[in-house]
Order: sequence, then structure tokens, then C-alpha cells
Amino acid sequence: MSLLELSSEERAEITTAVRQAYEDLKAKNLALDLTRGKPSAEQLDISEELLSLPGAGNHTTPSGEDVRNYGNLTGIKEIRSLWAQLINTPMENVIAADSSSLNIMFDLVSWATTFGTVDSPRPWGQEEVVKWLCPVPGYDRHFAITEHFGFQMIPVPMTPDGPCLETVAELLKDPQVKGMWTVPMFSNPSGVTFTEEVARALASMEAAAPDFRIIWDNAYALHTLTAEVPEVLPILDYAAQAGNPNRFWVMSSTSKITQAGAGVAFFASSTANLEWYGKHASVRGIGPNKVNQWAHVEFFKDPAGVRAVMDKHAKSLAPKFAAVLEILEERLGKYEIAQWTKPTGGYFISLDVMDGTATRVVELAKAAGIALTSAGSSFPLGHDPLDRNIRLAPSLPPLSEVRECMDGVATCVLLAALEKIQA
Ligand code: PMP
Repeated sequence: MSLLELSSEERAEITTAVRQAYEDLKAKNLALDLTRGKPSAEQLDISEELLSLPGAGNHTTPSGEDVRNYGNLTGIKEIRSLWAQLINTPMENVIAADSSSLNIMFDLVSWATTFGTVDSPRPWGQEEVVKWLCPVPGYDRHFAITEHFGFQMIPVPMTPDGPCLETVAELLKDPQVKGMWTVPMFSNPSGVTFTEEVARALASMEAAAPDFRIIWDNAYALHTLTAEVPEVLPILDYAAQAGNPNRFWVMSSTSKITQAGAGVAFFASSTANLEWYGKHASVRGIGPNKVNQWAHVEFFKDPAGVRAVMDKHAKSLAPKFAAVLEILEERLGKYEIAQWTKPTGGYFISLDVMDGTATRVVELAKAAGIALTSAGSSFPLGHDPLDRNIRLAPSLPPLSEVRECMDGVATCVLLAALEKIQA
């Protein structure tokens, strides 16, 4: 029973019911928030023990480093070794830093703009124009960085296997294309995990710019919602084998594993890129927060310890994702006016409502006390050409609120669609 194929009587009947549901929703005076992919209090509690680690007197690592002091820009060996195993990368190619991978991404773009990369004929800032590939829908904070630096962002469609390779290959013929955002596993917001074939193609693809960089932001590498733990692809190996050893800037962090504001971020890349990073990072600071790095090693112990923490996250998150999918199916499935992803990991569900109605859905939800991420936020400059995408982030509210929220959202999706059909 597509909403578009109803008789006018049937449509009038549904419109009356949906309008009433919306009035009832408003009368509840809700104050709910599905905007950002923050961990819930329940998830943060999983790592509560970290607040008492490493503990007084426990300040020297097995490799003999006093973590309280200045120094060691690459981070302590023990956490680099632990993380290297988890992200399938040699330890020599992994640096442990402070709490935010986004900070590192900002620095990388900033330093390439000011100084150029090891392969740049000149700093990016001296280019007439810097172009940047943005798989869409994508992560709004990625796009905010490249917007901030005045880069021209070019949307690239996503497929179920990763970004559309034909589009990327064509765009890479332009030497002004200097970089590309990616979230290769459980992508923000589509949940897509790139296949090995796509990863290898991105590693080997010809690029006119000698200093083309792919920010391989593996923020959700370990964030499965099921018992299945996908393999982390050794992207630096693929790049080296393809003769493009410096192409990838690989990111990872414990932000959604331990404490979002007080975790450890990691940067992995070729030796040449890490030396380049160190050259600038050593001027910016004297060393990272190694006390926190050591606390994380004490907390996790080994890769199995990290997996055990991730299991607990999955137990907290999976019912919320299931509730969103169940309500979307129950309330919208039969009307064929919306589509949504069914991710098996990560933090988001990407909802496509009827074309031209996403802004209206968000507006209706807001008026009913439900905060959704702004329509278009998963696109460069916040511009969704079809005005249809909404990113749902069910992690933060308790399960009962997720249900209430989604029921309300479904009402708003239907109401906006009916308004559009009748306009
Ligand atoms: N990358 C992606 C793809 C994310 O979704 C997020 C958090 N929403 C981040 C990076 C932020 O990472 P960090 O906390 O390490 O800065």
C-alpha cells in the first residue's frame, strides 16, 4: 500500500489519523534528543574503573618509562603495541596521541595546507584551489574541517561496498584533488563497511596529484553490534604493495570504547608520513598524556580485554538499534515512502525520507520536542540535493526514550510526506 497509490478517500483517512497522531505527540511535551552519536551513561559506566587507574605509585611502564613526565611524542610502546594488533598494522607505524582523532585530522590538514606533505610540490595553501572527495552521506565533522580550510568539496556517492570507484577514478584525474574522507568500517552514517576490493582499488588507483591523501578514519573498526567481528584490512600494506606508501592517514581512537572525552587517539601511516607528522607535532607540543595511555593499558590488558569491553557496548546498543528498525518497519514499511540502513555496527542509522521532505520532518519533530540532526548534515556544506537524508543516532537516550522518539519521528515522516503529496 504505497502512500503514493492511495485513492483520495484512503489518503484523506490516513491524513486525519496522522494529523491526530501528531497533535497527540505534541501534547506529550517531549524533550528528546537523537542528534549526536554520543555513548550513553550506561556505556560510559563500562569503563568507570579507568577513573582510578593507573593508581598512585603505578607510573612506570614495563619498558621503563615514567609516564608522568614530558616526552615521547609517539606514545608509550605498550598502548601502541596493543592498538597495532587491533587495527592490523605494525606497531612501528602506529602513534598514540591525546584523546581526539579529530584533532589529529585537523592538524594533518592544517600542516599540509601550511607546509605541504612529503610528496607535495608546494603547500596546499599555495594551490589555486584544493579539491576534496566526500563520500555521501558522510560525517559532518569531517566536512566541517575541509570547509574550514576553504577546500572545494566534491560529493561521491556511496555504494553498499564503499565509495563509487568509477566516480573516484574519474575525479582523481584532476591534480587539484588532494584528498578524500573515508570511514571504512561501519561508516558514519550509512553503516557501510568497505570491501577488500574497494580498499585495494583505493590504494592502487592512479591519482594525478602526487600528494593525494585518503583519511582512513577507522573510528568504528571494533564497533560491531553482533557476534561477528570483521577483519580490519591492512590498508597500509595494500598501499605499499601498490607503490603508494604515503597515501593513507589512518585514524582510530578509544572515544567510543572507554570515555569519549578522555580516551586515546591513534594515527597510523607510512614511516615517511610519521616522520613528517613528528616534525610538526614536536613543535606543537612536548608529548601526549601518557598517564592516560598507561591507564588504558592497565584497563584493557590485551586485545581480548578490548573485545570484552566492545561486547558490553554491543549489549547496550543492539536493543536500541533493533528498536529503531522495528518501529521504522512497523510504522513506515508498508507505505513505501522511506528507506533506511540496517547496520550491523557503528553508531548510526541513515534514514531517507520522501524526497524534498527531510527539512520538514526535522522541523515537525523539533516542534514536537524531538531533536534530530539537521537535515543535510551528512552532506558537504549541509546541502542534501534531494533533501531526503536524516541521520539517526540512537546511542545516547535510554531504550524507552529511543522507542518514544522513533514513534514520533515516524509520525513526522508520514505527515511531511502527506503534506508533500497533497501540495
Ligand atoms: N570519526 C568519526 C567517523 C566519528 O563518527 C567520530 C565521532 N562521532 C569521530 C571521528 C571523533 O573521534 P574522536 O573522539 O577521536 O575525535
